[in-house]
Amino acid sequence: MQIIDKVYIDGTFVTPHGDELFELFNPATEQVIGRVRLADAQDASNAISAAKRAFPAFSRTDKRERIDMLKRMHEAVAAKEDELFEAIIEEYGAPVSRGRWMARHASSVLLEAAKVLQDYAFTRRAGTAEVVMQPLGVAGLITPWNSNAGFICGKLAAALAAGCTAVVKPSEMSAIQTRIVTEALHAACLPAGVFNIVTGRGETVGAQISSHPDVAKLSFTGSTPVGKSILRAGADTLKRVTLELGGKSPVIVLDDANFDQIVPLAIQAGFMNSGQACIAGTRILVPSRRLAEFEARVREEVARTQAGDPRDPQTSVGPMVSRKQWERVQRYIRIGIDEGARLIAGGEGRPDGIDAGWFVRPTVFSDVTNDMTIAREEIFGPVLSIITYRDTDDAIAIANDTNYGLQAYVFSADEERARAVASRIEAGRVLVNTLAHEPAAPFGGFKQSGIGREYGSFGLEAFLEPKAVLATS
Ligand code: NAD
Repeated sequence: MQIIDKVYIDGTFVTPHGDELFELFNPATEQVIGRVRLADAQDASNAISAAKRAFPAFSRTDKRERIDMLKRMHEAVAAKEDELFEAIIEEYGAPVSRGRWMARHASSVLLEAAKVLQDYAFTRRAGTAEVVMQPLGVAGLITPWNSNAGFICGKLAAALAAGCTAVVKPSEMSAIQTRIVTEALHAACLPAGVFNIVTGRGETVGAQISSHPDVAKLSFTGSTPVGKSILRAGADTLKRVTLELGGKSPVIVLDDANFDQIVPLAIQAGFMNSGQACIAGTRILVPSRRLAEFEARVREEVARTQAGDPRDPQTSVGPMVSRKQWERVQRYIRIGIDEGARLIAGGEGRPDGIDAGWFVRPTVFSDVTNDMTIAREEIFGPVLSIITYRDTDDAIAIANDTNYGLQAYVFSADEERARAVASRIEAGRVLVNTLAHEPAAPFGGFKQSGIGREYGSFGLEAFLEPKAVLATS
């Protein structure tokens, strides 16, 4: 049983002013594995004050100093990779292969930011003016539970690379990962107050950060409804806002696709991170004349997909993070059935042979139309919808007929053809015949999937403001 009773403010681990205790669970067993003492609005204010005090000196550090700091942070987090990996499995339920990737990603984003900073020119010319990219001020960074350590490090990396100081509000459900990352980052010996980490509830700590006049920039990853409330909360003080929100990503299977090759990719894209991924490909668009063939391959592939113990290396779908999330996924499966979609794999309840833990059955519906609830709303679990289309124009229209626009996938035997389709998709990222990640490429959404971009030079500029200086010579 882990007791986490400190927050990190002004370079020191301190007992929070807040005194609410929040239970942490192992989602595979439903057992309580720890308790975290949550910070409150007063703690958030203290953290913001510390970041504000640290800003004048930190914002004047040069590129070289900040690259050194990012490298030290990378080494410190990398040194904790195994501990972090254990926590990600225990506290979040990620299957081992995913957990290993997540634990490594947390340190690698810091190194990626150092590379971006290396190549970035903070000063450029526009006509007669000199344009200087200047750090915005104190940044409020708010993360979700589905990749907590990676988001803490990724957002901090970009903010600090830019010369901003930061207050991080991690998900309250991921406090063990947060403790490990915080201890690692403390060991990197940055100046006091440059970053502060306060775990607390969204309605208190998150709301305080989102509305506080001394916070210049908000970077939030989480659900679309909370993203909208953060945008409203920041409006009074005109905060710069980056929002990475939900998705309902289309997977467009063109009529020439080789199903032996692409069905495994489509299923992986849908069930990645146990379906708890904003970029999951949850609407699979298939040419109507090849539907029966596609369904048969999907049934085989899902039968091979193991849902269960995250520590079993064969498992690719672990438990949902919480009872609430489990119930949400069950509710959507019921809605799909009630709306007349046809189950071709999975369904309600736990997988066979499992009677505890927040496990769900990897589920695929066919005969889904794009106006059904399961095709429109983000489920955030391993529940996929197959939707048929007549021709390529119809496929593109269905793909774009969504409030979201985070990611899309196009699969075809002809890459040029797939790229032509990709050019017509309204999404921040389109993956053509691949599931690869590119850390230097911008990441973020069109429409209600968000505002702004993270990663690479676009992500760095989200923490900078251009200032034009005009002089006589
Ligand atoms: P959430 O929106 O409930 O919470 C995210 C964070 O916001 C948490 O730290 C939470 O405590 C905080 N929060 C809640 N209410 C707040 C408020 N009023 N003010 C300020 N902060 C508040 O999301 P979640 O359930 O933790 O994560 C799942 C959601 O995140 C999904 O919808 C998913 O699509 C989205 N997500 C998006 C991306 C992306 O990059 N686009 C990545 C991962 C997850």
